[in-house]
Amino acid sequence: MSSMRKYESFFSNLKCPYCNSSIKSHLEELDIPHFGETILLHLKCEKENCSFKTNDLFSVFSKEPKRFAFRFSSEADLSTKVIKSSSCTIRIPEFGVEIEPSIASEGYFTNIEGILLRITEVLQFTYMSLEHPEKMFNCKDLIRKVAHAIEGNESFTLILEDPMGNSAIISDDENKISIKTLTKEETEKLKVGGSPIFGLEK
Ligand SMILES: [Zn+2]
Repeated sequence: MSSMRKYESFFSNLKCPYCNSSIKSHLEELDIPHFGETILLHLKCEKENCSFKTNDLFSVFSKEPKRFAFRFSSEADLSTKVIKSSSCTIRIPEFGVEIEPSIASEGYFTNIEGILLRITEVLQFTYMSLEHPEKMFNCKDLIRKVAHAIEGNESFTLILEDPMGNSAIISDDENKISIKTLTKEETEKLKVGGSPIFGLEK
């Protein structure tokens, strides 16, 4: 995979949602094998003490809405590459995990280990807001399962669905992956979220 081109300050009119300062943008074009040319977008507030930053990615060419299902069974699967855009829904049915896109969703290029670490972050954040003991117990149990998965000691199915077609799990192993184009009906049921760039233009 090679970085092809970089663009600094491509957008000149973005304002920080926290402090209204200017936002610095950085675009990078990557050629990802089995997926194609992809734009990585990094946005960061220019003000020194402001913590606002976000990322997203898009395929250069328009793609069909797709579902990727990957059968995870060992530690070796942790390095399987994942392209997760801001419009991606992540599911792990065996764990009851479903993360739908929201206005705060980010896009990034990672691997399955990276996805599991992000899910852990979401669960830990959720745990802090829980009050009911049973829900707290279930959430802790889920955090433990995901930790086992990160050690390669759980089998599960990682499902990515993206109505914009900007997400993918990249594997050549036909025994592990199934890829399906979503029907119009299936696509309409999915949330799109909002790319971090929407709402920042002033
Ligand atoms: Zn700011």
